Amino acid sequence: MKKAGEYGEFFPPELSPFAYNETLAQDYFPKTKEQVLAMGMRWRDSAEKKYNITMKNNQIPNDIRATSDSILDEIIECAHGGNCSDHCATAFRIIPQELQFLRKMDIPLPRLCPLCRQGERVRLRNPMHLWHRKCMKLGCNNEFETSYAPDRPEIVYCEQCYNNEVA
Ligand SMILES: [Zn+2]
Ligand SMILES: [Zn+2]
Ligand SMILES: [Zn+2]
Repeated sequence: MKKAGEYGEFFPPELSPFAYNETLAQDYFPKTKEQVLAMGMRWRDSAEKKYNITMKNNQIPNDIRATSDSILDEIIECAHGGNCSDHCATAFRIIPQELQFLRKMDIPLPRLCPLCRQGERVRLRNPMHLWHRKCMKLGCNNEFETSYAPDRPEIVYCEQCYNNEVA
């Protein structure tokens, strides 16, 4: 056997049953198809989606009280229309339990397909990176590591000051 140098390393990407963009790696370290292929990893192109859209995105009612049960029969267009990096399904449906919940909570219908909604959630998470920062409480000199980048608008306290503040 020829030495390939992988002993002691993490499993090489050619052993992975998944393509890079199907894994959490794409959520945390998003890369383009070109970058992924250049690293010697696989990329999965999403299959072409052809749904018979019966409701355009701009026809979605703004108010859940103005939404009738007939919404359950609609194939609703996703606002991203497949033009994003979230594997957009391009369309989605509303199921009865979902409609019931939205009515109960007085929340309007979603405008994105479930995959794009997941994409939006992931983008709200802090990156997998720690910055060394000072406590922003006046008079406190504590320093710590935080996933809140220094250029973000949030006020960041050390653990002690935070606990005093919320106590
Ligand atoms: Zn979508
Ligand atoms: Zn999207
Ligand atoms: Zn502090």
